[in-house]
Amino acid sequence: PKFVYAFTEGNKELKDLLGGKGANLAEMTNLGLPVPPGFTITTEACKVYLDSGTEPSALREEVSAHLDALERQMGKKLGQADDPLLVSVRSGAKFSMPGMMDTVLNIGLSDESVDGLAEQAGDERFAWDSYRRLIQMFGRTVLGVDGELFEEALEEAKKAKGVSTDVELDAADLRTLVEQFKDIVGKETGRDFPQDPREQMDLAIRAVFDSWNGDRAKLYRRQERIPHDLGTAVNVCSMVFGNLGPDSGTGVAFTRDPASGQQGVYGDYLQNAQGEDVVAGIRNTVPLADLEQLDKASYDQLMQIMETLETHYKDLCDIEFTIERGKLWMLQTRVGKRTAAAAFRIATQLVDQGLIDEAEALQRVNGAQLAQLMFPRFDSDAAIEQLGRGIAASPGAAVGKAVFDSYTAIKWSRSGEKVILIRRETNPDDLDGMIAAEGILTSRGGKTSHAAVVARGMGKTCVCGAEELEVDTKRRQLTAPSPDGKGSIVIDEGDVISIDGSTGKVYRGEVPVVPSPVVEYFEGRMHAGAEDADELVKAVHRVMAYADRVRRLRVRANADNAEDAARARRFGAQGIGLCRTEHMFLGERRELVERLILADAEDEREQSLAALLPLQKGDFKELFEAMDGLPVTVRLLDPPLHEFLPDITELSVRVALAEARKDHNENDLRLLQAVHRLHEQNPMLGLRGVRLGLVIPGLFTMQVRAIAEAAAERLAANGDPRAEIMIPLVGTVQELEIVREDAEKVIREVEETYGVDLGLTLGTMIELPRAALTAGQIAESADFFSFGTNDLTQTVWGFSRDDVEASFFTAYLEKGIFGVSPFETIDKDGVGKLVKDAVRDGRATRPDLKLGVCGEHGGDPESVHFFHEVGLDYVSCSPFRIPVARLEAGRAAA
Ligand code: ADP
Ligand code: MG
Ligand code: MG
Repeated sequence: PKFVYAFTEGNKELKDLLGGKGANLAEMTNLGLPVPPGFTITTEACKVYLDSGTEPSALREEVSAHLDALERQMGKKLGQADDPLLVSVRSGAKFSMPGMMDTVLNIGLSDESVDGLAEQAGDERFAWDSYRRLIQMFGRTVLGVDGELFEEALEEAKKAKGVSTDVELDAADLRTLVEQFKDIVGKETGRDFPQDPREQMDLAIRAVFDSWNGDRAKLYRRQERIPHDLGTAVNVCSMVFGNLGPDSGTGVAFTRDPASGQQGVYGDYLQNAQGEDVVAGIRNTVPLADLEQLDKASYDQLMQIMETLETHYKDLCDIEFTIERGKLWMLQTRVGKRTAAAAFRIATQLVDQGLIDEAEALQRVNGAQLAQLMFPRFDSDAAIEQLGRGIAASPGAAVGKAVFDSYTAIKWSRSGEKVILIRRETNPDDLDGMIAAEGILTSRGGKTSHAAVVARGMGKTCVCGAEELEVDTKRRQLTAPSPDGKGSIVIDEGDVISIDGSTGKVYRGEVPVVPSPVVEYFEGRMHAGAEDADELVKAVHRVMAYADRVRRLRVRANADNAEDAARARRFGAQGIGLCRTEHMFLGERRELVERLILADAEDEREQSLAALLPLQKGDFKELFEAMDGLPVTVRLLDPPLHEFLPDITELSVRVALAEARKDHNENDLRLLQAVHRLHEQNPMLGLRGVRLGLVIPGLFTMQVRAIAEAAAERLAANGDPRAEIMIPLVGTVQELEIVREDAEKVIREVEETYGVDLGLTLGTMIELPRAALTAGQIAESADFFSFGTNDLTQTVWGFSRDDVEASFFTAYLEKGIFGVSPFETIDKDGVGKLVKDAVRDGRATRPDLKLGVCGEHGGDPESVHFFHEVGLDYVSCSPFRIPVARLEAGRAAA
């Protein structure tokens, strides 16, 4: 294979081979933009090196040939004593990994050529500044010298001279500094700083290869789900200099505002500076607009180039550039990162500009961004003191009193206080406190820390790893540096703080919370068509319309009551995919359920069931009314019965106390017996779902009757009920056949009594591996399947969802066993394979089998794409996820 490509040979499609930076440098070169010439060593070469420990044998010659060509083009040789060609050696992987890998500037300088450079530039200070930068960067990244040692020497030099910035050091100072830097290298590595320019270059190239496997880079990849075997490309680029005086400089720019999407001039510029100086914050930058005053010609050219890039990439681009004595050079561009709001606005703006079509616009946004826009936000105008900033681990805006332990969190929240749980880091013991808190703040740990993972799972606001904040749980204090950096601010237990899980910011006091305009829009309280409608709302409205036009998957809601159903409908639900009936057995009805469970005689049981019937019927009627004309899938009772009985410990104590008082309560005693009888070691795998229906006579038929009568009465009221009855936890077709026979009998009775045809359908959940494996048989008795991917994930992996997320998932995520919990995103290879095969087998038996999914995965972006691919008819998710599912279903189909 060819291992080296000149910038003139590549293009932007070659990111796999040339990395993002190299591919885009080539693209710009071929667009005729001013890019300093150079070449790119491919990721393939990197992979060979990483696999075998040595560079591929052909590489050296190819590099030599390209270097020759570059030297001829530039009219000087690398490191040439009287007029040196200098290059940068820059890392650049397929996916941007900001700050994770290495770049070395000014390669080719040596004790000899530094004088040649000074001569050519007519600027001695510049030459020595470049040389000291080279030794510093090379020493640190290539030779592995502790960077602090160079920093300290630089500080010393400034102190000795009584100045505060590096630009105030003159040529002589820098010359002395170079000697010191060389001594440091000698002492730390036992060798001299290499004077041979080619050796410098080769060592730097190898260091960039090696940086792919640096600890930081590995961790970042695991967190961002970037494969470990891609390798990085290496760009060798002839140097241009922004540190050649006031008519030189370096800057960054965006073609649009990455925060709002607005077109305009956005960026920063720094005069007389090189490379990282702009972002390192060593001196104050000026807004890009000021460049117009400083250097009109370069500014105009930059504006022109930015327009060219936008039209060419058809998207927002970010840019790194340098001006050398009035000549503009482009050093990097890529399609830029943007906020969620900007993503939607830019997508619609580009459609209006005719640069992209609707299908492409859908690819420019995603469900995660939409979800982010739906969280309530802090009022950005509120003038509130910021305490610090951590990692935005789980979005949302939370306000509450600071507490430092789980116990207090629970105690205070029980008495109605809102609390923020603050810990250095959390562990499974903190779980109850996390549940009780409005939000969680930690000073340690990253995006996969326990706090972050658990909070995301619970949908709770979390900021983690706020390292500048000191958490002292013993003294119940949080200490933050004060804004002037001189003192500190102390937050005691009980003081109010606010945390923003979308930005990672932490504030002292209460920041007012405003509802998301996007939710206001979905709720129908804000209209996209209104004159003064929010620009973001208009954009979201349009993108949702694109998605709805193309999507094949229908989207339903998991909703148990009329209120949720109504909201789901406003959010665009096309039915209910899962109505759980367990809540219909709670509250005041619990007593009836207790009687049902305790019943010794048949008539006792029938009485309880008869009392429950009208109550359930009432619930169903409300639900069918809210969903008039749309399908409603009602799941018959699923959870184990003991969940409806009192807690075993509480009840035992009550009985023991009564006994001590010789005050026998017959009912409590019977209850306690029942609790013991129903107690299961493993309730998740116990007496629940269809098993309940088969062993408790009359339970399922009562529910079926309630559904059928509710539907009949809605019909009588000129409604349009579309009920579907769903049987949970079926493992074999025989279970389903028995339930079906009983149910059909009841339905026929009701139809005869009311003189109507109800058109009810009867189907099953597929949530056990055996059900999926025998889907072909089960379809003989089912009108529809609904994949219950929560239970299916539990049973396929053998994970108890209620336990594992808080116990060992953090370790699994950290070790990279999976990048995201399989309860969040469907495990395509395992659980997904069962779904796919069950779809195939089910349809083989019954081609018109209706297929859906009702686990949490129904609202997860990546999972929605999977369900589209395997050919489901619909996904069902919680009401708030419906817009996300609609959008992703559209993206999957576009
Ligand atoms: P990163 O991937 O961290 O952005 P780069 O390879 O882009 O690293 O290098 C960082 C900075 O160094 C660039 O933004 C640019 O300012 C400077 N730089 C890199 N190569 C050159 C060059 N050939 N001439 C001048 N400056 C360069
Ligand atoms: Mg860069
Ligand atoms: Mg289930």
